[in-house]
Amino acid sequence: MPTRQPRQPTPGTGGEHFAVLDPATGEAFGEAPDQRPDELDAVVGRAHEAWRGWRADRDTRTAALLTAADAVEAAGTEIAPLLTREQGKPLAESYAEIARTAARLRYFAELDPAPRPLTDGRPVRSEIRWRPLGPVAAIVPWNFPLQLASAKLAPALAAGNTVVLKPSPFTPLATRLLGTVLSAALPENVLTIVTGHEPLGARLASHPGIRHVTFTGSVPTGRAVAAGAAASLGRVTLELGGNDAAVLLADVDVERIADRLFWAAFRNCGQVCMAVKRVYAPARLYSDVVEALAQRAKTAVVGAGLDPGTELGPVNNAPQLARVERYTAQALADGARAAAGGHRLDRPGYFHAPTILADVPPDSPVVTEEQFGPVLPVLPYRSLDEAVEAANGTGFGLGGSVWGTDLDRAEAVADRLECGTAWINHHAELSLAQPFAGIKDSGLGVAGGPWGLYGNLRPFVVHRPEEA
Ligand code: NAD
Repeated sequence: MPTRQPRQPTPGTGGEHFAVLDPATGEAFGEAPDQRPDELDAVVGRAHEAWRGWRADRDTRTAALLTAADAVEAAGTEIAPLLTREQGKPLAESYAEIARTAARLRYFAELDPAPRPLTDGRPVRSEIRWRPLGPVAAIVPWNFPLQLASAKLAPALAAGNTVVLKPSPFTPLATRLLGTVLSAALPENVLTIVTGHEPLGARLASHPGIRHVTFTGSVPTGRAVAAGAAASLGRVTLELGGNDAAVLLADVDVERIADRLFWAAFRNCGQVCMAVKRVYAPARLYSDVVEALAQRAKTAVVGAGLDPGTELGPVNNAPQLARVERYTAQALADGARAAAGGHRLDRPGYFHAPTILADVPPDSPVVTEEQFGPVLPVLPYRSLDEAVEAANGTGFGLGGSVWGTDLDRAEAVADRLECGTAWINHHAELSLAQPFAGIKDSGLGVAGGPWGLYGNLRPFVVHRPEEA
């Protein structure tokens, strides 16, 4: 089969495959089908056909999804190394993604959208019943391929919809394997994985047979997805970028929180929508905070995700590494100081040194935009109002956190953050049961918990008189 590199702009022709690279080496190690956008008519048509049977019986769906969850866990030793190979993350983090995927399937399998009576005093028995929407398009990025796929397909399938899932061309392989494992537990065409380059995703998002597009990715692509879906007036859920701030209070115990704060920024090599991407420290503690984080950046074990002992893998792909280098170089040119790192590593693959930037001008793009990599700017503040204003002062609103010893005081500050989730002395700890909803440019709609299920359902109301 002919192969080509990811991210080439031209779509493939019939039977073509594209190469998948190992970010730890930069070398191709696998390939995936480069599907043409015009294949989607048949794919969506089959998803629509399969929907008729899948929506009919909730108990059958629950049983199938519970079986699917067991199957995912059983296949963990096969899926995890593949995920690490194409994504770069340490193996333990790949296993965590798989565990989360199974947990999500179980959670949504058992969530019951029970009919709800409407009581308003009239002599009518009214009831809200929840109906599925139809074929759902799920489009996901490369940072958490399985976890994000499951966040979409588990509620969509549990609600009685069928799903066409498109992973990023940088990370198609573990998702394809997941699809094979899940499909063994599901009726045919209830879940279909499509892989390929743009405009495959754009065509999927705007396909007239798709009734809900659930998308996770960058803000510009999210806008394009929403514009595309407008043509068919399908429902759209967008989980987009973030630029989360961590605000440290004057009573923070720096040494006590430093490990947790560091990993809240650097887990998955900083490629987490809800990573800490800016730290605001009181001026009096500024040098202590910079030093504590720099010391952890200098000692973190960077290496291939498959190597035992690796704590921080490579950046996932070459364009992303270039972006991280660009933000860092710009900050250094603007007068910032690299307290740790500040450069890519001189070795094959897409490795960048964990980087702590001090004395960064607040308007440097590494502060105002989403760097999405192993780079963390630390900024001093003089008054708490100034810190809160800066934390809220970007176009993003995904998450935020406040760190201190007096929990009441920390909660009062957390309450002032303009975002979807605020943590105290933690960051990015999410429950399956909670709503997940970014504000401003960070998203549209609500995922997670029962809200995620209802986001895949429509209300259908039956009015019945008390007497004929
Ligand atoms: P991206 O927007 O480039 O791509 C995301 C997905 O969309 C990929 O599958 C891609 O192939 C596809 N795509 C590209 N162009 C498209 C188009 N015109 N129409 C439809 N689909 C298209 O994002 P990325 O670089 O893969 O991922 C990083 C971004 O994802 C970051 O901004 C990060 O913050 C965000 N993200 C958000 C969340 C969240 O829950 N809010 C979670 C993880 C990542």
